[in-house]
Amino acid sequence: MLHSYLSTDDWLITESGFSRGRANYYETVFTIGNGRLGTRGSLEEGHQGELSGTFLAGVYDSHDSPVIDLVNAPDWLGLVVTAGGVRLDVDTCTVVAHQRALDIRHGILWRTTTFRDTQGRETTLETVRFASMADRRLCALRAEITAVNHDAEIVVESSIEGRRRNLERKPAYPPGTKFPPEIKWEKWAKTNHLTETARAAANDSIHLGMRTISSGIDIGYSAALWADVAPQAHAVREQHARVAEVLTFTPSVGDTIRVDKFVTIATSRDDTAVYESCQEALAQHRAAGFDSSLVDSNAAWDRKWEDCDTEIIGDAAATQAMRFNAYQLLIAVNEEDPTVSIGAKSLSGEGYRGHIFWDTEILMLPFFIYTQPDAAKALLRYRYHTLDGARILASKSGFRGARYAWESADSGREECPQWTADGLERLWMGDEELHITADVAYGVLTYVAATGDTEFLADFGAEILFETSRYWADCLTWNRTRGAYELNSVIGPDEFHSHVDNNAFTNILVRWQLEQVVRIYRELQTNDPATLARIAEKITLTAREVERWEEIAPQIATTRTNESGVIEQFDGYFDRTHVPITVWDDNNMPQYPDGYHHFNCEDTDLLKQPDVVMLMYLLPDQFTLDDKRANFDYYEARTLHKSSLSPAIHAIMGIEVGDHTRAVQYFTRSAFVDLADNQGNTHEGIHAASAGGTWQAFVSGFGGFRVMNGTPTFNPWLPPEWDEIRFRLRWRGNRLSVALRHRDMTLQLDASAGTTDIVIVEGKPLELAAGVPHTVELDLSERAQHAPVGS
Ligand code: BGC
Repeated sequence: MLHSYLSTDDWLITESGFSRGRANYYETVFTIGNGRLGTRGSLEEGHQGELSGTFLAGVYDSHDSPVIDLVNAPDWLGLVVTAGGVRLDVDTCTVVAHQRALDIRHGILWRTTTFRDTQGRETTLETVRFASMADRRLCALRAEITAVNHDAEIVVESSIEGRRRNLERKPAYPPGTKFPPEIKWEKWAKTNHLTETARAAANDSIHLGMRTISSGIDIGYSAALWADVAPQAHAVREQHARVAEVLTFTPSVGDTIRVDKFVTIATSRDDTAVYESCQEALAQHRAAGFDSSLVDSNAAWDRKWEDCDTEIIGDAAATQAMRFNAYQLLIAVNEEDPTVSIGAKSLSGEGYRGHIFWDTEILMLPFFIYTQPDAAKALLRYRYHTLDGARILASKSGFRGARYAWESADSGREECPQWTADGLERLWMGDEELHITADVAYGVLTYVAATGDTEFLADFGAEILFETSRYWADCLTWNRTRGAYELNSVIGPDEFHSHVDNNAFTNILVRWQLEQVVRIYRELQTNDPATLARIAEKITLTAREVERWEEIAPQIATTRTNESGVIEQFDGYFDRTHVPITVWDDNNMPQYPDGYHHFNCEDTDLLKQPDVVMLMYLLPDQFTLDDKRANFDYYEARTLHKSSLSPAIHAIMGIEVGDHTRAVQYFTRSAFVDLADNQGNTHEGIHAASAGGTWQAFVSGFGGFRVMNGTPTFNPWLPPEWDEIRFRLRWRGNRLSVALRHRDMTLQLDASAGTTDIVIVEGKPLELAAGVPHTVELDLSERAQHAPVGS
């Protein structure tokens, strides 16, 4: 009856029946984790064609692979049951019944499968597993094995498997070749990152030590098995890079055997004595027991949801999708580790090889800033941790200061591949997608504004801001004819266009960064001169240099603006061939016009994802509503949304400019990107940026939340089919609870008695007193439906 560990149905993502074609999808969706590690939702016993994996945050390696990988780490999950000598798995037996449920409230994955072998013996395997949120060293699995209609011998083998491989698709197969899922694994070349260092069976436990080959990280796993009935036999099986405990039972018909597997994981990234650390944690959790460890983990989860739960009254499916996205973000982050960030596919798959992009600062970070500020701080500290890497990258490009890599891993080095996996297309993002450096600064500034964390600014943030500003000042080039500073041969967020000059997004964000950083410098001069002096000395920063930033900022080149107020995406964009979008899929998502694909849109005006529109979202007070409308309408008609980062931003801006119909479609697209697998590649890992974007679409789209001149403002709009939405925000250390209905909105500040704060609702200031709900009537007529041009 392990099902009783689960929360109520509204927190469950379920699977009914085993489908081979869907198995890799569920492996991603059912990932459990705690930010230190993620384990895909594979079956304990495995199946042919599985894409299983455990990923440890920060454990990267480049041995044997052209580009550094997040290592597919040793597998802790292995639990193989045989009944009467027959292996219970979907390839060997008939599956009589199969159900799984992921409890996204507490990060628990439950399954029950009844297998029938060729002799008609039926055995049920029921399990629950979790990665503890309270003690991130622990993973645990409880299994109940029921001999439904037989008394055959049952053998349980619990393993730690170090012989893991990362997938590496080599260009050995013609493009478009499709392999059936059961041979996909075999058809892909595999990359080895691990070598064995230790294997032991002692203290009623087993231990495996592995080391990453080129990065030299020691990884230790200790495991112990406990059964509620005395086994007939107990053995340890050792093979190269694999160790297993084997228990044999002789049940009577109908008997259920319960087995608990505790696994503790340590690495030399955070432990000096890996083996001892594993053993110590193991002893602790064995003594506490499965239930007690789970209770602690659940309590840690409950604390997280207190700040980040969202609800849509009147739409259970959308509420579940919101929570699922939040769940995926929560299992991707570790507020205790300032040396790691979140990869594009979090810790849920090998897609993008675990690399870190602007996805973190721009799409995911707001969720953390406004619901889990400690986690946000840790993510930004990763950028501090990799600041030296960014300095090296700047100096390699011939500039001073720090330039962040488009794709980074453990060191801040540029890890973006130069070629597609098939070797046919050159990828220029690593060379040209410079805006990432301003995106990181934007993340730092947003975090500091929302939290007032001056300590972070003094210890880490200011140095990042100064070094990145220094880089911009150095790499902007003066164009005498234009009388402006230019950034040439770049890629903006819209990756369909490379080698472009003066991308508006990049130039305007850099201008904004320099202005803000000059302000921060001056504030430090007044408020904390000692800190400023320390940083200035460390990086040899002078007041004159900062004055230069101030001089440069207003002189950064702007592109043309047409008669309707549309900002040209980059120099010459308006002259590119106009290719109309004429085909939409069943979900109203635009399709490539005939003859076009990812690599041949350069000469067209088609966009992969928002660029100017993204800028207008990030810098809300720099543009008028008319500007936003004109640009949204123009670029909306040209945007193909070929990145999962895209729809959420169009949902937000659609709401702001009054294109509600499309906004709701885009929100749905973003919220269900993985649950509905609407990009078709969920099996490679979760779309973590889309998860963050979905939260922003909810809070900044429907809630209309922006920070304007340092004050939280709300210009809400609610879809007619929803009755009410609820969310919470952290603002300057306090909690703001928001409930939005069609006619009014209730805001409540949770803070120590006597605290007050000002927010702005529909343009009017509202003073909130701690503990008192304030309900304001709304005048939604202001944001009536606006028919977009060309619709
Ligand atoms: C998008 C980028 C994104 C990357 C990783 C690309 O397809 O165009 O904006 O950073 O995926 O998610």
